[in-house]
Amino acid sequence: MWLALGMEWRETNGVRWLAAELGPAGTGIGRVGFGSRVGGVSAAPYDSLNIGVLTEDADAAVVENRTRLAAAVGIEPSRVPIGLQVHEADVRVHEGPQEPSPYAEPGVALEEVDGHVVRGPGLAPLVLTADCLPLALAGPGGVAMLHCGWRGLAAGIVARGAALVEATSAAIGPGIGPCCYEVGPEVLGAFADLGGGIAEDRMLDLPEVARRTLARAGVGQVESAGLCTFCESELFFSHRRDKGVTGRMGNLAWIEA
Ligand SMILES: [Zn+2]
Repeated sequence: MWLALGMEWRETNGVRWLAAELGPAGTGIGRVGFGSRVGGVSAAPYDSLNIGVLTEDADAAVVENRTRLAAAVGIEPSRVPIGLQVHEADVRVHEGPQEPSPYAEPGVALEEVDGHVVRGPGLAPLVLTADCLPLALAGPGGVAMLHCGWRGLAAGIVARGAALVEATSAAIGPGIGPCCYEVGPEVLGAFADLGGGIAEDRMLDLPEVARRTLARAGVGQVESAGLCTFCESELFFSHRRDKGVTGRMGNLAWIEA
């Protein structure tokens, strides 16, 4: 088993993204790109690398941003599977590109799904975030990219994704931190079985929830970005900080042959 080798910032034609290597995945090496808001063309309040089309941002700007992000990690936009994220635990295994591609051509129908798996090189599934955690997994069965808000975590999306790829390593991307994530008792109650230390009063530590959930799923090597989307306003969109009027980061996982 390989260690997660850490994360580092990269900048490709102005697009800033956080790169992580996950170790062996399927027939190659698992790689991750966690996107930032830096390097796109969208105007405020979606400035600038907004990847989400279900906002009031201009579609043409989002398409350009999507093209830039895909280019930054070296993949064709038509080979980036996405879903309509509904905060549930379904995970889709992709054998080939979505046709037509909802990433390259916004407006085409989207399947409701919060997680994606690929088993070999050539596709880079993406999830959108703006406080929820993007979480990537790798193992002999491939790589997974999961959209993990509290609802998805509580519904078991990590266990689902981990089983599909026989995960041995994981990377947790930027999301809202325990410094900024006040929640209600129903949210705290959803994680009561994880034990103490996941919250201080009403401030939930979502990355810690993810870590414990990964441990339960048998994933030993976990790297976490440790960056709060709410605090780091220059780098990240934050749904809560910006009161819902904001962009979305794109986060991809893929296998390098
Ligand atoms: Zn914070």
